[in-house]
Amino acid sequence: MGISFEHGARVLRGVMKKNVSRSGAAAQRKFQALNAAAAPLRRCVRKVFVTIFALLLLWTTPAAQTNDYLFNDSHFHLTNYIQEGTDIHDFLKIMGNKVGRVALFGIPLQQQWSYRVDENRGPTYYLNSDAPLYYYSFTDAWIATAYKSLSKQEQARFDPMITGFNPTDMYAADHIRRVLTAFPGVFTGIGEFSIHKEFVSAKISGEVASLQDQALDRLLDFATEAGLVVLIHNDVDVPFAKPGSEPAYANQMKALFKRHPNTTFIWAHIGVGRIIRPVKEQAAIVEEIINDPQLKNVHFDISWDEVAKYIVATPESTQNAAVVVNHHPDRFLFGTDEVAPPNQEKYLKVYNQYEPLWKLLTPEASEKVRKGNYVRIFDEARHKVRSWEAAHVKSTMTTEVLK
Ligand SMILES: [Zn+2]
Repeated sequence: MGISFEHGARVLRGVMKKNVSRSGAAAQRKFQALNAAAAPLRRCVRKVFVTIFALLLLWTTPAAQTNDYLFNDSHFHLTNYIQEGTDIHDFLKIMGNKVGRVALFGIPLQQQWSYRVDENRGPTYYLNSDAPLYYYSFTDAWIATAYKSLSKQEQARFDPMITGFNPTDMYAADHIRRVLTAFPGVFTGIGEFSIHKEFVSAKISGEVASLQDQALDRLLDFATEAGLVVLIHNDVDVPFAKPGSEPAYANQMKALFKRHPNTTFIWAHIGVGRIIRPVKEQAAIVEEIINDPQLKNVHFDISWDEVAKYIVATPESTQNAAVVVNHHPDRFLFGTDEVAPPNQEKYLKVYNQYEPLWKLLTPEASEKVRKGNYVRIFDEARHKVRSWEAAHVKSTMTTEVLK
């Protein structure tokens, strides 16, 4: 009986299929056995890969997480007295792996270019001209816009501050509230703003600022309500004070702090200026504030090359400062007070100037002044301000930002 080609092919395909499925089942059993035997090895390989990945991540992550930065900067001006400065993206490169976080602000005062006074010579600094300074509120929008141009990860390294208000104006508090409302999710504090500042206060158009002004109390009340940290510049004395006389503003400053016990203050430059020298009394004033249980809300920044100049002037002056800081390491913060630095060398200048002081601090005090106190104070303020915004700013933009 002849078998057709088609039939033969069908039979052959059936046999092959059977064989294949038989040998397939055997292979599968073999594979399962091998698979079970290899499981511990696979787990081990996976662990090695995870470890390598974690190490790579650690290696490439900014040092913020590994705590390798030299410092956090509690006092930094991105722009100058004519509202020009460093592009924030360039500034991030300048911070590099040296500086972790930065309290970011412009300058609230604009040097007017008066043609009548300076003709074609446009002044760039307040000492360059007799023309007045005026409050330039747009600085806050400028800083907020710069901050918002960054990625979330980059933003985490900045604490923008509101400065564009006139502290003699009862409406200053309303300006601060308006800035929080217009730019929710951005700001952590107010300042650096100045009340008494050598060469500057007298040049500002309008009324001279005062520590005894209701407008100042009103804006501080609002800062406290919103949880904003307050960075205030106020010289402890007048320039060229009579030797031996009481520092002019010491008592007014203490009274101001006491009227606002729930406000977190940072007194910029420990009250010292370019020619407002750290008179002997200044150390006593600082100690008195530190030891007053009613003034636990007051901290000091040691920013500005002019301040560093006094502190590291002699081995004795450095030693005296180190003793105070080592005794009260929670009350001092490092800051640069640099204005629109063009490069990293210029930006790190004040930090390097303090080298003799860093050497005399205990490891605990050094860590707190350079980094820890910043994190404690600014993190707390960030948290409070975000809560205030969540409760008070009602707009779709806000809910988007605060998500
Ligand atoms: Zn400053």
